[in-house]
Amino acid sequence: MPGLKRNGEKMGEIAEAIVNGDLCEQCGSWIGPGDGYPRNCGCDSGARAAAPAPKPFKCPKCGKSFEKKVGRTDHFINHHRSEVNKLVEGYLE
Ligand SMILES: [Zn+2]
Ligand SMILES: [Zn+2]
Repeated sequence: MPGLKRNGEKMGEIAEAIVNGDLCEQCGSWIGPGDGYPRNCGCDSGARAAAPAPKPFKCPKCGKSFEKKVGRTDHFINHHRSEVNKLVEGYLE
């Protein structure tokens, strides 16, 4: 692979290799030689599926996080309903 150093490479060279299509733009795997445009090794969809979804809704009782408010509400009802009825009221809509 002319022009690409596998060892001691600098960030600029890695970026260049990704832009050139030598390296997967998603995971950085070697897929060269590139055709002069960014591409990925096929990990694209898998990488996205594996990315953790943001879970902004936290259970105030046990700290478990939920993607959606309704998920937290369900959890709360199933796991903590009997414990704190006052809290449940505050988290139900
Ligand atoms: Zn990849
Ligand atoms: Zn909980």
